[in-house]
Amino acid sequence: MKCSYCSREAVYFQRHSGKHLCRRHFTENFIRRVKRNIRKFRMIGRNERIAIAMSGGKDSVVLAHVLKRLYGDRKDIELVAISVDEGISGYRPPTLKIAEHICRELEIQHHVVTFEEEIGLRLDEMVEIGKRNPCTYCGVFRKYLLNRKAKELSADRLATGHNIDDEAQTILLNFLQSDIERLARLVPSRVQRGLVLRIKPLREIYEREIVTYAILNNLPVSFEECPYSHMPVRAAVRDFLYDFENRYPGRKFSVLRSFEAIMPCLREMYPQIDLNECEICGEPTPKNVCQACELKKELRLS
Ligand code: SF4
Ligand SMILES: [Zn+2]
Ligand SMILES: [Zn+2]
Repeated sequence: MKCSYCSREAVYFQRHSGKHLCRRHFTENFIRRVKRNIRKFRMIGRNERIAIAMSGGKDSVVLAHVLKRLYGDRKDIELVAISVDEGISGYRPPTLKIAEHICRELEIQHHVVTFEEEIGLRLDEMVEIGKRNPCTYCGVFRKYLLNRKAKELSADRLATGHNIDDEAQTILLNFLQSDIERLARLVPSRVQRGLVLRIKPLREIYEREIVTYAILNNLPVSFEECPYSHMPVRAAVRDFLYDFENRYPGRKFSVLRSFEAIMPCLREMYPQIDLNECEICGEPTPKNVCQACELKKELRLS
């Protein structure tokens, strides 16, 4: 099949536009959409240090590669990467190796923080002694450590590799669970004291496009799945969206655009509150004690 824009062989069929794209036009289209998204939400400005949350999975690897491509020549923008080792045997060590390798290749300073050292237990151990879902410990502590490390590195932004599939799932899930407050937290550019602003430069890129970009650029792609990943409701939403998108291409964009249309209402409904400093660790929290410190107490770590 020929590219819809030139005479070269197509390497990708973009379902939502109906276009066949050769390597060059696929890359141009990909980069243009990432740039547009960064500009739209003013994700990156001048003189900034951007910390990349680097799990070593395909999304974060592609994110680092794209940011290096876009900002590698800029003297005023610095990229650093932070990996969190949760302590999940068999799953995390190989992706951490990928993270290390890719940061070396891209000449991005790489920092690793571990649950074991910073929290006191590996996730595998928390799961043994605690009663909660593994993803609760993992999500809360990972977010906590990423924010703390990003601040320690004086980062202005914390970039994550979320793609359109992740975003559309989360938006729909929040609607289905009637959790509008959580939905409001997805609004980009919500500046809060003590929290390094999170940005998602790939939020308009399909997962399939990320995999294609990785393959075209010889980037390592890990398809390993976390042994604790068991989120039946999210999986149901993912399958529904996948099926719907297959039949009616572009619907994930519709979910994103609808969310963007109601952003002003969400901002008004949930104005930003000033966060407190956790009485125990000083990290930001809407309460007196942050969630990480509460979980640590439950696990008898403090
Ligand atoms: S699926 Fe695994 S890596 Fe992801 S949040 Fe849950 S425990 Fe952590
Ligand atoms: Zn072409
Ligand atoms: Zn705390």
